[in-house]
Amino acid sequence: MKSNIMNVHKISIAIDGPAGAGKSTIAKLIAKTMNLTYIDTGAMYRAITFKILRDHVDLSNEATLIDLLRHTKIDIVNGDILLDNSLITDKLRTPEINQYVSKVAQISVIREKMVELQQHIAMNRSVIMDGRDIGTTVLPNATYKFFITASIEERAQRRYNELCIKGFDQDLLEVQAEIEKRDKLDTERTISPLRKDENAILVDTTGLSIQEVTDKILSYIK
Ligand code: C5P
Repeated sequence: MKSNIMNVHKISIAIDGPAGAGKSTIAKLIAKTMNLTYIDTGAMYRAITFKILRDHVDLSNEATLIDLLRHTKIDIVNGDILLDNSLITDKLRTPEINQYVSKVAQISVIREKMVELQQHIAMNRSVIMDGRDIGTTVLPNATYKFFITASIEERAQRRYNELCIKGFDQDLLEVQAEIEKRDKLDTERTISPLRKDENAILVDTTGLSIQEVTDKILSYIK
C-alpha cells in the first residue's frame, strides 16, 4: 500500500532526439526546476564505449561482451558517471568516443543491459531521462514525452562550440559529418532506433535559446 501512495506523485519525463539538439542541457534545467533525478543515458553508452576502447575489447565477440558487462558497474551519482567506482564524467565527450559510441550502442547485449539499468534507476523515483529510445523503449509509460530536435547546422555549431571550450581542435564541417553519421546509425539500427514516440511532443529548438526551450517544455508540463 505504502509504495502505491508514494507512487501517486512519481513522474517520469522522457526526452529523446538526435545528437546536439540540446537534450541534456534542457533536461538538467528541468530536473533542477522540478526536483527530479536527471539520467543522461547517452553517458551510460559512452561509459561502456570508454571501457571497450580502453581495454581493446573485440566488439564482434558476444561472449566477451557478456563477460565484460557482467564485470562492469555504471553508477550515476549527482549527475556524475562512475565506471567501476572511478569518476569518468570528463572523459566521455571526446571525438574518439563520439566516433565509436553509436557502433557500440547497436549491439543487443549492450542495449539490454543499459535499458535494464535505466529502468531500475527509474523504478522508485521521479526522473527526467534523455536519450534515443526513452519514450519508445525505456519508459514507454512516461508521464511526459518530448522529442527535441534542431537543424543539422545548428546542432553541429553547438557541438563544435562545446568541443572548442573543452580544448579539442576540430573542424566545424567534420563535427557536422560526425553528427550526421551518428544520427544515421542511431536511426537505422535494428534495435530501438531513434524515433519519435507517437505520444511525444515535438519541440524544434532551432533559433531558440536554452531558456526559451525550457520554458516551452515546462509550459506543457504545468
Ligand atoms: O546523447 P549522447 O550524444 O551522449 O549519446 C551518445 C550515443 O549513445 C548516441 O549517439 C547513441 O548511439 C547512443 N544512445 C543510445 N540510446 C540512448 C542514449 C544514447 O543508443 N538512450
